[in-house]
Amino acid sequence: MRAMDAYYLLRPMIPRSVQVFLRRLAVQRKREKVADTWPIDRSCYKPPLYWGGWPEGHRFAVVLTHDVDTAEGQNKSQSLARLEEEMEVRSSFNFVAKRYHVSSEIRSYLSENGFEVGVHGLYHDGKLYESKETFRNRAIQINQYLADWGAVGFRSPAMHHNLDWIHDFNIEYDASTFDTDPFEPQSDGVGTIFPFMVRGNGDKEGYIELPYTLPQDFTLFVLMQERGIDIWKKKLDWIAEVGGMALLNTHPDYMNFGDIPLRNEEYPAAYYKEFLSYLQGRYKGEYWSALPRDMARFWRDFSSRETPVMMNGIFGKKPAGQTG
Ligand SMILES: [Zn+2]
Repeated sequence: MRAMDAYYLLRPMIPRSVQVFLRRLAVQRKREKVADTWPIDRSCYKPPLYWGGWPEGHRFAVVLTHDVDTAEGQNKSQSLARLEEEMEVRSSFNFVAKRYHVSSEIRSYLSENGFEVGVHGLYHDGKLYESKETFRNRAIQINQYLADWGAVGFRSPAMHHNLDWIHDFNIEYDASTFDTDPFEPQSDGVGTIFPFMVRGNGDKEGYIELPYTLPQDFTLFVLMQERGIDIWKKKLDWIAEVGGMALLNTHPDYMNFGDIPLRNEEYPAAYYKEFLSYLQGRYKGEYWSALPRDMARFWRDFSSRETPVMMNGIFGKKPAGQTG
């Protein structure tokens, strides 16, 4: 048994503070080894074949998302929504359906004020992908929550992913992958900073996969104990340069909004605000700002339209509006 397997097996018995301590050690050790592929893996820059660019000629795209891991995170999500309203941005909030009571007031508030709501698993217990049977049983319930919440997007707890099984969800997009993140338990990156279509199989519909492309807050500020947003800026600059999609996942759970002293596993929400200011200041008018569901719809449209067709014996781009 690998050390990591043993760790995940024993994890429920290990106090949270010890878990974080052990992960900090592992991350420190790994960080130097992966310096060529994290935070930037330059091989991920390539746009898809027949790429026609972002809407309205924008140079790159930005998608803001949040996973709300705990009840406390849900309480703080109101402060986070307020911060975003002040900054005139919108995002998606993914709630864990059965780990805490998901407030219908908060969901309604978000939906009615231009935010998106998504599903972040049922329990956040690391067991969603344990077996095909567990997965199928949970998928039935997850589909129920998707329908009840009017949600079309899913992100798996701990970023576990099996793109084939995900067809069981009634979703327009999944967002459980990343271009590069060697610090995740299932660390296989998808190798692109663009969305991609996962085609349907059998009677199952296809969906759009939206990889996150900026490091998660937990990795940077809790595990690596970074004291600033240089890594976010550096990665954003590179994505802007090559015209990709900057997709960020942050957690209200770990944010401190300044009303109480900074606690263990918290970072100042001001970091996130600083990131938004940097984006808006440096790249004003240059990026397409989209909710994940809008990104998924744009990409589905692109994927179904921009397919190669034979024209005069050579492959060419299908003219817009032409079908078949
Ligand atoms: Zn989570």
